[in-house]
Amino acid sequence: MIPHILIVEDEEKLARFVELELIHEGYEVTKSGDGREALQLATDNTYDLILLDIMLPGLNGLEVLRRLGNPSKSPVILLTARDAVMDKVSGLDAGAVDYITKPFAIEELLARVRVALKLHPVGNAGSGSDADGSKDTRETDRENGIHRWKSLVLDEKKHRVTYDGKEITLTNREFEMLKVFLTNQDIVLTRDTLLEKVCGYDYVGETNVVDVYVRFLRSKIDEVFDIRMIETVRGVGYVIKSE
Ligand code: CA
Repeated sequence: MIPHILIVEDEEKLARFVELELIHEGYEVTKSGDGREALQLATDNTYDLILLDIMLPGLNGLEVLRRLGNPSKSPVILLTARDAVMDKVSGLDAGAVDYITKPFAIEELLARVRVALKLHPVGNAGSGSDADGSKDTRETDRENGIHRWKSLVLDEKKHRVTYDGKEITLTNREFEMLKVFLTNQDIVLTRDTLLEKVCGYDYVGETNVVDVYVRFLRSKIDEVFDIRMIETVRGVGYVIKSE
């Protein structure tokens, strides 16, 4: 999973600079320049890390940190002014995992970010107890090779598929195709894409092979459990919708 970092900084140029550097490092970034908005964002979402400036409009960073609770569900690195010793102490007391003194070299910030992400992984002990718990579960599932759609569970490692706990026996190709659908939910997959993913690039044959497998899957899953899982998108291909 791509770590998602929230930057809370009202100096736009600095925020933008840090954002670009983090994106360049491969992180997903959300930005906020207001303490109150940041508190709302951090309450509604779980971030892998929050970079939190102290001097902010709306609500200052220390207050945001306090209101997030200790430990907060997302780890926080404070951005503090040089010599603001009390800020650093209060910040660490309030649960920040680290602080960076402004102005900082971007290499230092990136290094601290890497360390914080490593030492304080979100989704382990204590976090994800509320609204975002399901997201953490999904991430853990994905790492374990478990894919879900409603009551259907595909376990890659055990090579097992169940619906409401009832086992479904699939051939390898059917299993692979179902996996492609489950890992691409809400994306319309063309016959060519499915063929390539399930049979490999060098498959020579008719794309209607895909229709055949879809029919097999429907007869083993949709028809047996009286559901509508794989939908046909006329003229394009097939899709499994998450909702
Ligand atoms: Ca500021």
